[in-house]
Amino acid sequence: METMQSSGHAQGGMSLTTKIVIGMVAGLIVGTILNKVSTPFIDAYLVDGLFYMVGKMFLSALKMLVVPLVTFSLLCGVMGIGDIAILGRVGGKAFVLYLATTTVAIALAIVLALAIGPGKGFDMQGVAAAKVTGKEAPSVWDVFANIVPSNPFTAFAQGEMLQIIFYVVVVGVAALMLGRKSEPFLRACEYMNDLMMQVVTIVMHFAPIGVFCLIARSFAQQGIELFVPVLAYVATLVSALAIHLFGTLMLLLKGMTGLSPVKFMHKIRPAQLFAFSTASSNATIPVTLHSVTKRIGVDNSVASFTVPLGATINMDGTAIMQGVATVFLANVYGIDLGLGGYLTVIMMAVLASVGTAGVPGVGLVMLTMVLGQVGLPIEGIALILGVDRLMDMLRTAVNISGDAVVSTIVASSEGKIDLAVFNDPDAGVLDGDDLEIDEQAEAALARTAHEHDR
Ligand code: ASP
Repeated sequence: METMQSSGHAQGGMSLTTKIVIGMVAGLIVGTILNKVSTPFIDAYLVDGLFYMVGKMFLSALKMLVVPLVTFSLLCGVMGIGDIAILGRVGGKAFVLYLATTTVAIALAIVLALAIGPGKGFDMQGVAAAKVTGKEAPSVWDVFANIVPSNPFTAFAQGEMLQIIFYVVVVGVAALMLGRKSEPFLRACEYMNDLMMQVVTIVMHFAPIGVFCLIARSFAQQGIELFVPVLAYVATLVSALAIHLFGTLMLLLKGMTGLSPVKFMHKIRPAQLFAFSTASSNATIPVTLHSVTKRIGVDNSVASFTVPLGATINMDGTAIMQGVATVFLANVYGIDLGLGGYLTVIMMAVLASVGTAGVPGVGLVMLTMVLGQVGLPIEGIALILGVDRLMDMLRTAVNISGDAVVSTIVASSEGKIDLAVFNDPDAGVLDGDDLEIDEQAEAALARTAHEHDR
């Protein structure tokens, strides 16, 4: 116990990240054991009962934060940026970097997969076939036309991130135009932003148990035997994800900001753990925002814009999966796609990642579009279906890492990064103290509320 405490945060015992890691490892062990000793009782009451319920509650709690948090932090960001021209510049840089990193990611994945050659001489027997229905690829025009919401309330209710970003930026700019009249609005938004961040803190304290249940359920459902027939696919995919995360992204970070990749990786770890556990970039937005602003030191005026944007349009890990899966299936079916085919795959995957939200399993839907475009049989997806949940967890962690790297690069280029925060290992670390309520402040607030009532 002593050693764990000393590795944790000073006052509040173990840091939250340590507890989440423990929850994750415990979930992994328990899930793997349950997968082996599976009985109808365990499945009904534990895996699909308690673990399902707690996991879903935790996931919903995270999702419930996303829309209000993005709205208020982005409003503060737009109003606090000081100059509308900067906003356009930040958006432009982030957009270009997001597209560029995704393109590099999938190109790397295709080259690596072509070199390794997974799926050559694949034995189709022993792999359960599943029905997969394809989805039409959206046109470039639709992808961009859909950014403007016809009804903002529908956009908010459905969590349409690009539409919300668009609407909030327009409202923020309008508030800037109204000048001093907007001051009370700005103060209200700042307060709401702080309030929502505090709700994030509350929810994050439930993470160790939530993460435990999510991971235990995933591993209880996924037997190791599912991996055996497609081991070459999994190995190629994991290698490409690792090369992109530790190689490309970290080189980019070091080259463009001079910041230490080791420190960066340490600070982004909580968000990666959440992304891995939830397999959803969208649900991870509150944690990514917290890590990027409070731990890495990126100013809210940049992060409030680039993080939710990245969760939606930037999916490096997902693009990598598209690349490896296409090469794998082309090999399985003995079809040569040629350079033109692979260029189509790259274009389609980048476009699809812009047009689709970061939610679990969306990568598979995107893959149906990509395969359809280059004429590969969509049924092939059945081969990798069994391992997709775990692959989804891994690629989501890479997706949000890309969002954080680009946010940091853009902030650094704008001089909007606080290096004191970045260099302080304890900055933004959550511990038990964050949930304490100051009794005097509580009493004062109650008095004020009574006075207002009268
Ligand atoms: N789950 C991924 C995300 O949310 C998308 C995917 O690859 O399915 O970023």
